[in-house]
Amino acid sequence: VISMEKVSKWYGTMQVLADIDLKVRKGERIVICGPSGSGKSTTIRCINRLEPYQKGRIVVGGIDLGADARNVKAVRAEVGMVFQQFNLFPHLTVLENCMLAPMKVRGTGKAEAEATAMKYLSRVRIPEHARKYPAQLSGGQQQRVAIARALCMTPGIMLFDEPTSALDPEMVKEVLDTMIGLAEEGMTMLCVTHEMGFARAVADRVLFMDRGEIVEQAPPEEFFMNPKHARLRDFLGQVL
Ligand code: ATP
Ligand code: MG
Repeated sequence: VISMEKVSKWYGTMQVLADIDLKVRKGERIVICGPSGSGKSTTIRCINRLEPYQKGRIVVGGIDLGADARNVKAVRAEVGMVFQQFNLFPHLTVLENCMLAPMKVRGTGKAEAEATAMKYLSRVRIPEHARKYPAQLSGGQQQRVAIARALCMTPGIMLFDEPTSALDPEMVKEVLDTMIGLAEEGMTMLCVTHEMGFARAVADRVLFMDRGEIVEQAPPEEFFMNPKHARLRDFLGQVL
């Protein structure tokens, strides 16, 4: 459902992505790791066109991102994204945060949007906080709201950019458990994370990026037990 072919991107003269080739099948779970500045965020942000790219081709769910500006809207409706900083609207309640995009983008009626929102807030196990504002919730709860909000658009693909790295340690598990639940339901997922336990548990493939390239990719057992590239061995030495 995702195909990136020789995607390259520059900021000015600095190349941040170099010929990224990545194919993701429906239902596949991919974890991306790598050192800071290696292009992990940029890669997943290109998939829903939060970032433009200068070379190559990205096709998501059969829609070519480069072909027509209108395609960007179609792709964004298909792809949910969860960020490190939860990016909830502070002036809206949890429920309103979840209802906004379905009503604005899809034209869903209020009653239906609310029912859908409550369904996903229950799924992430915080329906009791629906009427609160984000600031009244813990970081882990806010991140679960962000996941519920993305799910309210019924995306076929979910992108996660370090969803647990802004959380206190005791809240990491509740968010990872939510993500594991999604994986078990068959969601197609791309997760940038350094939670190697999560990668071992759910990833079909783990990718290692360095300096704008995908340096190595393998199923988790092989990735962790038998890393081929010296740069990956160094990296694993630091994070494990
Ligand atoms: P981290 O682990 O720190 O989140 P990352 O792998 O996600 O790192 P990216 O955010 O994709 O890295 O950044 C890749 C490169 O692009 C970095 O060198 C970064 O400094 C650069 N970069 C990112 N955003 C911009 C920007 N808006 N303008 C200029 N350079 C940028
Ligand atoms: Mg990043």
